[in-house]
Amino acid sequence: MNELLQNLIKLQSLEFGEIKEKNAEATIAELRGKIPAQIIAHYDRLVAKGKKGVTAVRNQVCTGCHMRVPIGVVTTLMHDTDIQICESCGRYLYLSDSTETVTPGGKVKPKATRKARKPKSSLPLVAAPVAAMPLALSENARTGMRAGLRSIHG
Ligand SMILES: [Zn+2]
Repeated sequence: MNELLQNLIKLQSLEFGEIKEKNAEATIAELRGKIPAQIIAHYDRLVAKGKKGVTAVRNQVCTGCHMRVPIGVVTTLMHDTDIQICESCGRYLYLSDSTETVTPGGKVKPKATRKARKPKSSLPLVAAPVAAMPLALSENARTGMRAGLRSIHG
């Protein structure tokens, strides 16, 4: 997420009391200094109307006005190339932290439902002698075998 958006979100969180900081006033002043004047002006207009200036986009929907956000806007946010404004409510948009992926078709992939595992019907009975064979070979037996091979070839 670009710094401007991060600053806007933090500013809003502080001004709306969503996050508490010891020097909130100082941080707010600092953030306002960093954010371009026209963006702050737009943000302030929204806040003055009792709205939030910045809102999340979730599942391609603006959480401020619940209107669908064009895929182009979402893509821009994803690529983090520019800040975007909701066409319907005018709020600044940011992508929410949700990990859901938006496909080019605009549909959100549904979360994979966990398939119930079939209970194992019966454990295959391993033939004990076969499984035990490799372990049964002692070091002596193996060296003896190699010696035997050598004698054959030599
Ligand atoms: Zn909106």
